[in-house]
Amino acid sequence: MVEAFVRLVCPECTKEWQENPAELPELRTNFSCSNCHATRRLTEFMRTERDLEAVRQFQ
Ligand SMILES: [Zn+2]
Repeated sequence: MVEAFVRLVCPECTKEWQENPAELPELRTNFSCSNCHATRRLTEFMRTERDLEAVRQFQ
């Protein structure tokens, strides 16, 4: 089953939000938190393994 949204959490400031997995960039690219501007690989913002797998289905 394909999730409509994936849950993300910032590893620095713990801000939580949701994104459409089809609109997210490639998982290995750097991603910046809109709240604290911490830059990490997108994989590090995935809240659970399920969220990670949902994004992989679109890549
Ligand atoms: Zn943050």
